[in-house]
Parts: sequence; structure tokens; C-alpha cells
Amino acid sequence: MESVALLKCTDYDVELIENTLREGFELLGGDSFLRKLIPENSKVLLKPNFLSIEAKGSPVITHYAVFEAVVRIVKEYSENITFGDSPGFGDSRKAAEKSGLMEVANRYGVVFDDFKDDVHVTLENSLLCKSWNIARAPYEADVVITLPKLKTHAMAYYTGAVKNQFGCIPGAQKAIWHTRMPDANNFSKMLLDVNSLVKTSFAILDGIIAMEGNGPKSGTPKKMDTIIMGQCLTAVDSVAVRLIGYDDVLKLPFLKEAFDAKWGAVMPKDIVVLGEKIETMKCKDFKLSRKGGSFYFVNPSVTHFLTSMVAPNPVVIEEKCIGCRRCDEVCPRRPEVISFIKKGNKTIPKWDYSKCIRCFCCQELCPQGAIETKYKTLGKILGLK
Ligand code: SF4
Ligand code: SF4
Repeated sequence: MESVALLKCTDYDVELIENTLREGFELLGGDSFLRKLIPENSKVLLKPNFLSIEAKGSPVITHYAVFEAVVRIVKEYSENITFGDSPGFGDSRKAAEKSGLMEVANRYGVVFDDFKDDVHVTLENSLLCKSWNIARAPYEADVVITLPKLKTHAMAYYTGAVKNQFGCIPGAQKAIWHTRMPDANNFSKMLLDVNSLVKTSFAILDGIIAMEGNGPKSGTPKKMDTIIMGQCLTAVDSVAVRLIGYDDVLKLPFLKEAFDAKWGAVMPKDIVVLGEKIETMKCKDFKLSRKGGSFYFVNPSVTHFLTSMVAPNPVVIEEKCIGCRRCDEVCPRRPEVISFIKKGNKTIPKWDYSKCIRCFCCQELCPQGAIETKYKTLGKILGLK
């Protein structure tokens, strides 16, 4: 049985968040729990979510006020704190600076790590792959605390604690993993392997303002007034996805893979929710990325033709596109899939869907939010949207 604290927090006020987190830790066991979690002067790594270079307070990334509240509490147990991430696109240091987290870190003596130094490691009993390059800082930390944001995700449907640790794979190597693991099932196994390598001790999920719709970068901010905390990352995510509308948590490919592999607690019966009740914290009108389940539970060996007919496709929103070509730059299949065409006075992307692996990196990292996902006719007939 895994315990998860579900808490209400209505604002990005540091004192309020700090008090809420203290309440959560109290529910989980108080000071003795924290002493066990963070042994004296252990090397602690805080892992926020820097998807890309985003402005202070952006709903795309971990909020600086959440980060500050966590730092205040962790500092009572260890002075040896580092923080970092490897964004999907752009420089990690710039992302830390622009987000406001660097300023907080400097005030509290927390050291930044850009995750560029990696280490080659072997994972015995892996679900997918034994040989890995992983950022040294999270791999060598004594205690890793992940600070994800609750958001929709075009490929994984949802991103939270488990998915946040994908940032422990340095820079461009993430794109290689997308190419190697084009289907959601294998991608999910890969995520679980990363989480087996980086032994994350605790997750604090920022859902005060979450993201719905066209996430994880271009969706709509959604006030959910929620913080979820726990030691088991799948348990934290399992609670989060129930709040946004997935009553059947196995509709999420990574939770299904975790359940099948007996990786962490996934099912509600295996999770004790402390604090608020799920029923009262549920967000009833949350706009999901798209329906989970149908397509990605098809055997991965399904023919490419069928895949391209049933899978959702990245599609440009012409009015928003500025022709910057980042979508092509971040595509792991570049230069095969995206070309550019003239449309009036604009240059916009055009996809060769027969070559697209539907990793949705282009949608995730378009700076204008000019890419959405849409099903083709067959997908719509099958009731997907
Ligand atoms: S779709 Fe987005 S990333 Fe691609 S060219 Fe347009 S604005 Fe740039
Ligand atoms: S076009 Fe977009 S979804 Fe398709 S492979 Fe490239 S980045 Fe992935």
C-alpha cells in the first residue's frame, strides 16, 4: 500500500504553499518521515520541469513559488541541494534563469546543474533496455525529489511525476529515444526504465494551475488548486489522472505498462489517499488531450498503413504559425517528415504522415502553440477525438 497526500492550495503564494507542503508531510509521517526521506546532509537533487525556455510563472513549467517552498523545507534537513533539468529544446541554464528558479536558488545557496554531464550505466531487470546514458547529477544524488507539473500530453495523454524524469536523459538524446520507441507502449516502458535508474525518492506535483487541452506547452491553463505528494511516482500520477477524468487509470499507457510490470502502485485499491478526498477535488470539466486507450493498446506490430489511418496527426494552425521551422529542428525523423510550403505570405509546415512516428515533439515544442493533434476520418469513425 502506498500513501499519497492530496492537498488543496489555491494560490502561488510561497507561504501558503510551504504550509500546504508541511501539512502533506505531516500526513505522511511528519518530521520522522522527512528525516528518513532526507538523511542528514545527503546530496539532494530537485528536478523541476523545464520543458523549454519559459517566462516566470508560466503554466508550462514548475512554478518558482513551489520550488521556493520545497527548498525552504528541504534545507532544514540538508544544505547540499542541487537543481536541474534538461529541456526538450534550448539551453538549460537559460530555462532556469528565465523561469525564476535560478533567482530562488541563488538566494538559498542551491546549486544549478545543466544535466549535460552524463554517465553510462547498465540497468539489470530492465523492461526495455539495459544500456543507458543518463545525466550524472540525478543518477549520483542520494535523494531525488521530482517537481512535475500536471498537464496534458499529446503522446502520453498526461504528464506528471513519471514523465518528468524523462528530462534526466541529456538534451538531444531524448529525440533518439523517441525514434527508437515510436509507440506509446514501448515509450512507457522506456520511461519506467529511466525511473528505475534514477531512484526518485519523492514527488511533489504542481497542479495549482494545471494545463488542459493541447498540452504540454500550448494547452490552456486550468486552475485546479491541487498539490499531490508521495514517495511512489505511479501512485501520485494515478491519483492525478483520476482527478482529471480517467476513472480507469489503465487507459494511460504508462500506468498500464507499470501495472503489468508490477512497477509501483497503480490501482486505487493499492493507494491510500490522505488529506482531501478525490471526489471533492475532481475537475469535472477538464479537457483531456484526447481519448486514451483505443489506438495504443493495439499490438505495436500493427501495419504502418493502419497506424497512419487511425493515429492522430500533428496539424498546423495556420493563423498562429510564424514559419520559424523549430518543428522541423526538433523532429527526431528530420529531415524526412516536415517540409515547408508557401501559403499566401506565409511559410508553413507540411507533414509526410507516412513517415511520422507521432512522438509529437513538434507539437510539444512549437513556440507559438501552432500545432494541434487531429484524428483522420477512420480515427473519428472509431470514436477518437
Ligand atoms: S508550426 Fe510552430 S514551430 Fe513550426 S514553423 Fe510554425 S510556428 Fe514554427
Ligand atoms: S513530425 Fe512531429 S510527430 Fe511526426 S515524427 Fe516529427 S516531431 Fe514527431
